Amino acid sequence: MSQIQIEDVLNCPSLPSLPAVAAKLIELTGNPDVQISEIAKTVQQDQALAGKVLKTVNSSYYGLANRCGSIDRAMGYLGLNTVKSLVLGFSLVETTSNTDHDGFDMIGHWRRTLMGATASRAIAERFGISDKDEVFSAALFQDMGMLATFTAIRGRYLDTIRDIEHGNVSPIETTNFGFTHATVGAALARKWSLPENIAEAIAYHHDPEKAKSGDIEMIRAVSLGTQVAEALSAKTPSSVIRRIERQTAAWFPKQKIDMSELLVDVNESAKELASLFNTEIGDLKDVQLLMSQAQERGLEHQISMQRQTESLEKQAFTDGLTGIPNRKEFDAQMESEFAEHKETGRDFAVLFFDADKFKNVNDTHGHAVGDAVLVELARRATETVGDKGCVCRYGGEEFSVILPGCTVREATEIAERVRSEIANKPFDIRGCDEGPDELSVRVSVGVSAVDAGPVDRLKNAGQMVSEADAGVYAAKEAGRNNVQVWIPGSATESSLEAPSKSDGLSDLIPTGGGTQQIVLIEDDALAATLVMTLLKRKTNADVRWIMNGMEACEFFESMVERGESPADLIVCDLNLPGCNGLDVYRKFSGLGLHKEIPFFVLTAHDCEETRAEVAKLGVTECISKNDFVKNLGKWMNVLMQPSTRAA
Ligand code: GH3
Ligand code: MG
Ligand code: MG
Repeated sequence: MSQIQIEDVLNCPSLPSLPAVAAKLIELTGNPDVQISEIAKTVQQDQALAGKVLKTVNSSYYGLANRCGSIDRAMGYLGLNTVKSLVLGFSLVETTSNTDHDGFDMIGHWRRTLMGATASRAIAERFGISDKDEVFSAALFQDMGMLATFTAIRGRYLDTIRDIEHGNVSPIETTNFGFTHATVGAALARKWSLPENIAEAIAYHHDPEKAKSGDIEMIRAVSLGTQVAEALSAKTPSSVIRRIERQTAAWFPKQKIDMSELLVDVNESAKELASLFNTEIGDLKDVQLLMSQAQERGLEHQISMQRQTESLEKQAFTDGLTGIPNRKEFDAQMESEFAEHKETGRDFAVLFFDADKFKNVNDTHGHAVGDAVLVELARRATETVGDKGCVCRYGGEEFSVILPGCTVREATEIAERVRSEIANKPFDIRGCDEGPDELSVRVSVGVSAVDAGPVDRLKNAGQMVSEADAGVYAAKEAGRNNVQVWIPGSATESSLEAPSKSDGLSDLIPTGGGTQQIVLIEDDALAATLVMTLLKRKTNADVRWIMNGMEACEFFESMVERGESPADLIVCDLNLPGCNGLDVYRKFSGLGLHKEIPFFVLTAHDCEETRAEVAKLGVTECISKNDFVKNLGKWMNVLMQPSTRAA
C-alpha cells in the first residue's frame, strides 16, 4: 500500500473550499481598519446565509432580549466575532454538504462537532477565558481534518477509524499515516486563512499540553469541549466525566465546574444548534440518567479509592507474610500504651516470643515450610490472646504481644497459654508442597509487666521491650519452650544486665543431675513461672504445668490407666481452683502414686493448722512460699536431689 503524505490530502482536487462569502469575511476581519458596515454588506450578499445567521442570532441559543433584523445590528449586539463564527459555521455545513460522504458517519460527526463547539463556548463563557466565539469557531472546525482525509483517501481512512472511539483516533492515524486529523484540520484552516489561534486550537485539540504557541486557554477550552462531547456520546461516560473534572481542576484551578448543569445545557443547546444548522445529530442521551450513572460510578470510584488508600495505609503497618501488625505498628502502640500507663497508672504488660531452633526448620524442610510455620504461629498466638491484646511480628521468627491493662499475673497466664497452644498441638503444614504433614513447634516467651517490679524502674517503652527480650533470652537459657517473667533479682534481670559469669541464682541453685519429669500444679502464673524457671535453670527438668486441681486429678488417672508414671516429682499449691491441693493429694495417694513419687505442697498460709492437716495426709513436705523464696538454694536442693524421692 503506498504511503500517504499530508500534502496528498491537502492537494486533493475533490477537497471542498470555503464559500466565497466566508473567504471574503476572513480576509476583511484580518484587516484592523475594516468597517462593520462593510462586513455586514459582504454577509448580506448571500441572502440565504444572512437569513440563517439572523435566525440563529434571534434564537434562544444566543438569548437576545430584542429581536434584531439586520447583520450590522447583530454585530452591534453580539460583536463581530459572533457573526463571523456563525458565517464560518454555516459555510462549513454548506461545504461539507457538497461533498460525497458516502460511508462516513456524518451524524456522529455533526453531533460531536456541534456538541463540542457548544461545550467549548459554554466553558469559555463560564470561565471568562479567551473569546468565546473564536473558541466556538475553532471547535466547529476541529474535526474538519477527518472529513478532508476521508475525501482524499476514502475507504482506507474508514478502515482506520472504524469502531474507534474518537478520543483514541489520533494515535491510530499517526501509526497508519504519520499524521492526524488535527494536523490536517490545522493545515486546512491555514489554507483557508482562518486566524492562527484557531489553527493552533485545531492542531492541539486532542493534546493541549503539546501546544508551544497560541492561546493556551483557548486550546484547553476546545479540548475540554471535545471531551464533553465525548462524554455525551460515550458508552461509559463516567470515566470521561472524571477525566474532564481532573483536567479542569489542573488547567483552571480557580474554576468550579458544575458538570451536571453543563451537560444538560450542552445537550439542549446542541439540539437547537443542529436544527438551526439543519444538520442531523441523531438521538441524544438522557443527561440526568447519564449523570446519575456517573455519580454512582464516581461514588464507587471514590469508595474504591478510599479503600485503596486505607489498604495502602494498612499495608505500611502490616506484616506481609502473616498479616498481623508489623514492627512499626508495634513500636507505635507500645509508645501510646506506655504513655497511657504513665498518665493513668493503668497496668500494662508485653510479651515477646521467639520460635525455638527455627533455623532447623528452614534447614531441614526449606524456607516455604518455615514461612508456613510463621503464619501458623501468628494465627495461634492471635487466637489465644484474643481481645486481651495485640500480636505483632517483631521481626524474623520473633513476635511481640501488647497487653494493655494486664497485670504480671494475667500476662504470665496468657504467655503460658500461647506457649502451650503452640507446643501441645503439632503444626499442620500439608498446604506446603515440601516438608512433612506435621511439625512440632516450640516457642520461648519473655514477659515484662509494669507491676512485676518497682514501677518507677520503667522510664520508657523501650525498657519494657528490653525486659521482655531478656525474658526470651533467659527462657532459651533455661532450655527453651518455657515462659520467663522479668522479676527483680531473677534470671531475667541478670540476663538483662551485662552478662556476668556469676549471676546470683547460679550460686543459689545447685546443678541437678539428669532429666526430671516434674508436675507443677499451681494456678498463680507468676509463682508457677518462677518455680519453673528455677527448676529448669540448672537441670533439664521437663515441667508440666497444670492450673486446675480437677485437671491434675484427671491427669493422674489417665496416666495410671495407661500404665505410665505421671512424673518424678509433684509440686502442688494448696489453694487451687477445681479442688484444693489436699484433694489432689488424696486422689494422688488413692491411685497409689505416693509410694513412688514425692509430693510437695506449697502454701502461702503457713500456719500450724495447715501444717497439721498436711502432715496428717502424709505429703512429702509442706513448703511455705515465703520460705521458698527466701531460701531458694536450700529448697532447690531439696527438690532436685534424687534422695527426695520416696523409698
Ligand atoms: P533459637 O531457639 O535460639 O531461637 O534458635 P533459632 O534457630 O530459632 O534462631 P536463629 O536466630 O539462629 O535463627 C532464626 C532463623 O529464622 C534464621 C532465619 O533464616 C529464620 N527466619 C527469619 N525470618 C524468616 C522468615 O520470614 N521466613 C523463614 N522461613 N525463616 C525466617
Ligand atoms: Mg478530534
Ligand atoms: Mg528462634
